[in-house]
Formats: sequence, structure tokens, C-alpha cells
Amino acid sequence: MRYSKLFGRTKLVAPHDSDSINARFLGQAGFVDKLAAGVYSYLPLGQLVLEKVKKIIREEMNAVGGQEILMPSLHPVEIWETTGRNRTADEILYRTKGAGDKDFVFAPSHEEAVTPLAKKYIQSYKDLPLSVYQIQTKFRNEPRAKSGILRGREFGMKDMYSFHTDEKDLDVYYEQVKKAYLKLFKRCGLNAYVVEASGGIFSDKLSHEFSVITPAGEDTIIVCKKCDTAQNLEIAEGKIHDPELPEEKELPMKTVKMERGPSIEENAAAHKVPASKILKTVVYKIMDGGLIGVVIRGDLQVNETKLSQYLKKQVRTASAEELQPFGLVPGFISPVGLPSVKGGVKHKAEVKGAEVGVKEVEHSSTDLPFIGDHSVKSVKNFVTGANKLNTDLVNVNVGRDFNLSDFTDLVTVEKGFRCPKCNSELHEEKAIEAGNIFKLGTKYSKDFDLYFTDEKGERRLVVMGCYGIGTTRLVGTIVEASHDDKGMIWPKSVAPYHVHLVPLGMDEAVRKEAEKLYHFLLGKNVAVLFDDRDETAGKKFNDADIIGIPLRVVVSSRTLKEQSVEWKLRIEKEGKLVRLEKVTGEIAAWCQA
Ligand SMILES: [Zn+2]
Repeated sequence: MRYSKLFGRTKLVAPHDSDSINARFLGQAGFVDKLAAGVYSYLPLGQLVLEKVKKIIREEMNAVGGQEILMPSLHPVEIWETTGRNRTADEILYRTKGAGDKDFVFAPSHEEAVTPLAKKYIQSYKDLPLSVYQIQTKFRNEPRAKSGILRGREFGMKDMYSFHTDEKDLDVYYEQVKKAYLKLFKRCGLNAYVVEASGGIFSDKLSHEFSVITPAGEDTIIVCKKCDTAQNLEIAEGKIHDPELPEEKELPMKTVKMERGPSIEENAAAHKVPASKILKTVVYKIMDGGLIGVVIRGDLQVNETKLSQYLKKQVRTASAEELQPFGLVPGFISPVGLPSVKGGVKHKAEVKGAEVGVKEVEHSSTDLPFIGDHSVKSVKNFVTGANKLNTDLVNVNVGRDFNLSDFTDLVTVEKGFRCPKCNSELHEEKAIEAGNIFKLGTKYSKDFDLYFTDEKGERRLVVMGCYGIGTTRLVGTIVEASHDDKGMIWPKSVAPYHVHLVPLGMDEAVRKEAEKLYHFLLGKNVAVLFDDRDETAGKKFNDADIIGIPLRVVVSSRTLKEQSVEWKLRIEKEGKLVRLEKVTGEIAAWCQA
């Protein structure tokens, strides 16, 4: 391709509203053009990358037996009413009216279309398993479209749906797709981790996300480099670092008058103890329920997602008004001497779900169940409030001075924690979610009466899985993960062109040699972008850097004096001279490698 003829050349400056690396570089280099927030056109360079990404995805989905189909984007609203998502996904649905006042939805996902479609062809166990996918445009009314092409309102997506006779068959296929995903991300030059998704408080680890590490990522993940595994920060498990306290015996509990501020730091400073000796007490309001207290070592943070999952209810920290009827003073709360915990350790099932706690709260305004993070077992002689202003208890010991309804893992993992599997140090990394997979089970089969007849002639519900990757988002993710301050650095597998041929100056010999090389490479089917413009070396080099084609070949009167061209990989700082008679062979070999 001659750059002088290319539709969508580089601009002098990045689009003024670029809010991310990908928006800035893709916009300035003429790969994409923003029509509206979250709505983009793909110009020739961007389209070439997108098609290469789609080709890799296709190959990997075909390799796990996926069959490509294409479903409509325009859905009659009735199928969305059938699943209830007309209501639950209302916020993100674009709607329109058709002729005869019929209501339609622009599809953000295709479970509603694929399930009734599959029903027309699945009758017997002999029709299963089945896996179909499409690469298609999706619509999502994002309240805030942002991060360039990472979060769009109209975007490309590969969505695959699988159908199985039972959970076991789904599990086997799910693992195959997981491997295929890791392989395709690698082929796109990305280092992706499988992360167990928090998946909302009612899901039970039925979904996984694929996270690509990049400093611009919106998510935080906890990585063990030794095990090559990653966890979502919200639910990460890790071994707590040692509090480094001397061995001591349980001492008699004492009440101490102490004027101090309410924070853990102020408490620790006032009592001249490390934060780990403070018994941190946080009271939460359970959604549609009462209050629950949580105790944890003072140097650690309570993880609200873990608490929500434990209770199977949403929580938020209780307000001062909500604490007041219990006689609790913020900053001086303590589980010692509270009526609800006097009776000793309750059975876990009683408190789990918090229904018991909620009912008790309704009976008595002084009843407040307390649970503890495992970390409180590791410390003797805690300091805690005395449920009175400026009054503390010292030498407080769990099991002797107070009991808890239950112990569970409620800690927020931080860097410095250790891997639960291999004991190596855990690291915090920023990441972008590049794909996700779900075990749908029978949710959609139930909604659409998708049954099959098994070997015994019995009718059973089909078990489903679904597997998504945003194709346009993946292009943006590659830019976020692979660039420098000058521009993009495309991996060879998805680069719009492999070679950027750059002649410098209007010297006749240079022109002739560059044209000759260009035609030779075209003849060898090498994807080459030929910067045939009459521009300065500086302009041409800047453009080459921002466009980010992996190999730059420069022809100039200086290189021709050496009977050579300059060969420079985009990922490298320095170029090298390669002799003219060797260069075509070397380029062909590099393209094949
Ligand atoms: Zn590990």
C-alpha cells in the first residue's frame, strides 16, 4: 500500500478528547475515527488489525468445534420478556419501534436469540453437544462510554454458546474453551491470566474472566508469578503476613480511660502498641436486614465482597444513627459484653444468610451478632473500645472475654501477602478484562423450554455455557498492553502491515531502489506499507513510530553508499544495516518466523 494513497493518514495531534492510550494513538494514527461517544469507524489500518484479530479468534473457536453462524442484532422485545432481561437489563438496552408499533431491542447479547434457535434443531441426546458462535456487532447503552474502543456503545464481539446433556459435559468443554482463549490471547501478543470472577453475590464461581496485565487497566488483580495464577482482588485469598509480635500470655482484662481519636492509627499511638494489636471492629448494615459486626486484626482491611458472599446479602457500613440504638460509639465499638454474643459460639448455619440475626434484631434492639476474620486468632491481649466514649479495654482475648458466632476469611489481600498454594509473595497488578466465560446451566433452557430426550427416552433440560470476547475491545487492549511514548507497537500476528518501507529524500537513486524493493516485496506477498510521500525524515519517522508496524526498512543516500538499507524493529531502539542483495531474503525469512 502506498501511504500517499491511504485513507486515514496520521494527524499532527491526537484527538482532543482522547481519554486513554488507545484512543490517542489509534485516533492520531488514523486507525479509528470517533463518530459519537463509544461509537467508532474503523479506517483501513484499523480494519486490517480487526480482521486479523477476528481470524485468530475464528481459528481457535473452530479448533474447539465451534460452528460459525450469524444472528440478527434487531430482536423482537418478546424474547427479552421471556428471560426477564427486558427488565433487569433495561438500563443498557437500546430500544426502537418498528412498523405496526412493534417493539424491538438492539441486542447487547444473544442468549435470547440462540436458545430458541437451538430449540428448532435439538431434539435428542444425539444432537448434543453443540457449539455455535458468531462475530457480530453488539449494542450497549453504557452510561459512560470511555477508554476509547475499550468500552463502546456499539462494539464488535465474538459470542459462542454451547449446549450439553449434563453439567459434566459442560465442565469438560468449558475447560477446553479456557485453553483456547489463553492460546488466542497469546497469538495476539497478550499475556492473559484466567481469573475467577466474583460474579455477583448469588453466583457460585460459575464464571471466569481473562485479564491482561497493563498499567492502564481498570481492574486490580492479585498475581502469583510462581504459580502463574491470578485472583480478582475483590475475592482474592492469601496468607496474611506475620504480625511480628513477641510471645505473650493472656493477661487480665482492664478498663482504661483514654482520650483519643477514633482511627486505628490514633488508637495504636495512644496505647503505644502496633496496629496489629488493635481489635478492629466494623459494623455493617445488611441489605433488607439488621446489623452485623465484624472483627479483624487492626492492620488489615475487611473485604466487603467476601462479607457479602458469606452472608449472601449486600452490605454497607452502618451509619452513626444505625449504631445509636445499640449504644455503640463509633471508634469505641467492641464485641465484649454485647448480649447477643454471650451465649458462646453459635452454629455457622444459624448466622450464615443472616436471617437468624435479622430476626433476632427485630425482637431486641440490643442483639448484634459478631463474626471474626481468622486473623484475630493470631494475637493475644488485644486493645479494643469499651462501647463508651474515651474508654478502652486492654488485654482482651477471643474465647475468654468474648465469643464470635463464626470465623471466616474476610480479609482484603494486599501485596506482601503470600500465595495460598506455593507461599510465594503475591503481587498487585492493574489489568484489563479481555474476555469472559460463563456456565449458564439451565437458566435459558428453562425460559425457552429447551429440552432433549435422553437415552432412556426421558425429557431433560439442555445445559448451556457461553463464551465472549470483545473483538474491538481486544484491538484496544493490544494497544494498551503494547506501546511506548512514541506510539503503538503491533505484534506481527495482528499488525496491519509487516514492513514499513521508508525512503528518505528525493534522490533519484533512493527513489528507484525503494520502488524496486516495494515491487519485489509485493511479488513475494509481503504486507508492506510504502511511505512514498515527499516529507522530511523527522515526519516520516514519527509517523512510522506512532503507526507501529513491526519492521521499518529505510532507504537513503547514506545507506545506499554502503549498498545497504537500515533495518529496525519497532521494539528495538537501534537499527542495523543490511546489504541490498540480502535484504529481500531476510525480510521473507523474518515474515515467516
Ligand atoms: Zn503461588
